[in-house]
Amino acid sequence: MTLPTLRSYLQDRWVAGEAPFVPLYDATTGAAIAQVSARGLDLAAALHHARSVGGPALRHMTFSQRGDLLEQLSQVIHKHRDPLIDIARQNMGATRGDAKFDIDGAAGTLAFYANLGRQLGAVRLLLDGPEVRLSRSQRFLGQHVWTPKVGVALHINAFNFPAWNPCEKIACALLAGVPVITKPATATCAVTVRMAELWSEAGVLPPGVFQLLAGSAEDLLDHVGPQDVIVFTGSGATARAIRSHAQVMRHNVPVNVEADSLNAAVLGPDVEPGSDTWLMFVAEVAREIVHKAGQKCTAVRRIVVPAARADEVQAALVERLADARVGDPADADTTLGPLATAAQLRDVRAGIAALLEHGSAVHGPDVEVPATGYFVAPHLIRIDGGARAGFVHDHEVFGPVAALLPCSGAAEEVVEIVAQGGGGLVCSLYTDDATWAETVLVGLLPWHGRILWGSARVFDQGTGHGTVLPGLVHGGPGKAGAGEELGGERGLRCYWQRTAVQGDIQLLKAALGKAAGAAAS
Ligand code: NAP
Repeated sequence: MTLPTLRSYLQDRWVAGEAPFVPLYDATTGAAIAQVSARGLDLAAALHHARSVGGPALRHMTFSQRGDLLEQLSQVIHKHRDPLIDIARQNMGATRGDAKFDIDGAAGTLAFYANLGRQLGAVRLLLDGPEVRLSRSQRFLGQHVWTPKVGVALHINAFNFPAWNPCEKIACALLAGVPVITKPATATCAVTVRMAELWSEAGVLPPGVFQLLAGSAEDLLDHVGPQDVIVFTGSGATARAIRSHAQVMRHNVPVNVEADSLNAAVLGPDVEPGSDTWLMFVAEVAREIVHKAGQKCTAVRRIVVPAARADEVQAALVERLADARVGDPADADTTLGPLATAAQLRDVRAGIAALLEHGSAVHGPDVEVPATGYFVAPHLIRIDGGARAGFVHDHEVFGPVAALLPCSGAAEEVVEIVAQGGGGLVCSLYTDDATWAETVLVGLLPWHGRILWGSARVFDQGTGHGTVLPGLVHGGPGKAGAGEELGGERGLRCYWQRTAVQGDIQLLKAALGKAAGAAAS
């Protein structure tokens, strides 16, 4: 039987690549379900189409009009939520809850930026800060201005969020005024392809503003130019390959990277078992291990606890993990589905084996999982006296796996241990002791894009360690890629050029006045 072929949406048309095709699999059974190829597609023409048709159209629109476009994209996803959830279940083994997290996150982020567009209003570009006095003259002043780049936003996405990952990038780029070519990861592109089909069927895509490349990147990067921007989510190794691509380097094309991250959750020495802060910590950590089968860039990988509390933490986490129901994601009782791909299964098994060279599994090996598909039990691996062991701070095991690292609990030691991760997306602290937290916070802020501070005062209000919010920045230094996305208006800036204009302030106001609004600083 011939598999259905997934197509790309290029130059406002649906086109299929040429053989050989890459199969996509059902993560629960391992059966092939579709095929895709980007071979033979004219990607140079796609970039030209975005620059010559989509870019001018978007730049002609005001922020509020671009916001209206995002609102339409959001509504289409919301309307077709259930069929998209079914595709995610099959193509990546997502439970209903895991698929909703991705699909609702996509619709919600588009809606958030639609609202921001309305707030920015009927202007096309933004001033950055007040006028700058340059001399004694009151007339000859400087003004920084943000304008959209006149190139293409190339979005290269990871496999784990086929809806949200493309949409968080699309939301920022389109609102910024830059047309998009999005490339989902090949293995899990079925949701992204269907989402784009729904947009094109609904007739909400103006010509040239959005294109989708399904399949591998082929010669895409050979055609990038000086006004293009690459925004990448995926592994550090691929990020290095993209950044060092000859054409990318030749034109100094900006590459925003969200990559690997060994996120930590830290328990303060003041936290008593059974307290609100303790319960928050245990619930968050256990959820992060199980949620999306641990295939979240923000998932907790390292659990740093005072040695005096390690046994109690272990017992509490094991009790929670034992409640996880591993199985068919179509079953409503299942809380932990399979990993998304066979390659993930291989990598996660290898990662668990490597962690076990340093510590011992206190939960996982005895849990039965289905024999077909790509299932892995949740694993908690305790590493006593090895909080500084290299591998645990160096290698992200991208599955339902975390390491429990007992240490003294002293603030300085906690900072040293967590910072060994080399830069992360998010770290969560659980403490009610502001004095201890001050040292830990100040020590860890430079190493992270986001820090969640859980305490008794917010125990019933937390948005979650692993939840990326459109109003807060997402990204992190060092190993995490040194990129930054989202964060409200901040997320638009990687698509803009900031230019300092010097001249007579009255003439400048006359020239830019109607088109420009004030950026939030
Ligand atoms: P990956 O193997 O690096 O692939 C990511 C994307 O890059 C895919 O679309 C892939 O396409 C594409 N790609 C691969 N080689 C390329 C090349 N030479 N030129 C252009 N594009 C290329 O990563 P993954 O396995 O999908 O995702 C897992 C990793 O992503 C984990 O390490 C995780 O930490 C990280 N991640 C980070 C975040 C974050 O926000 N920081 C979020 C999610 C995931 P093909 O699929 O066609 O090969």
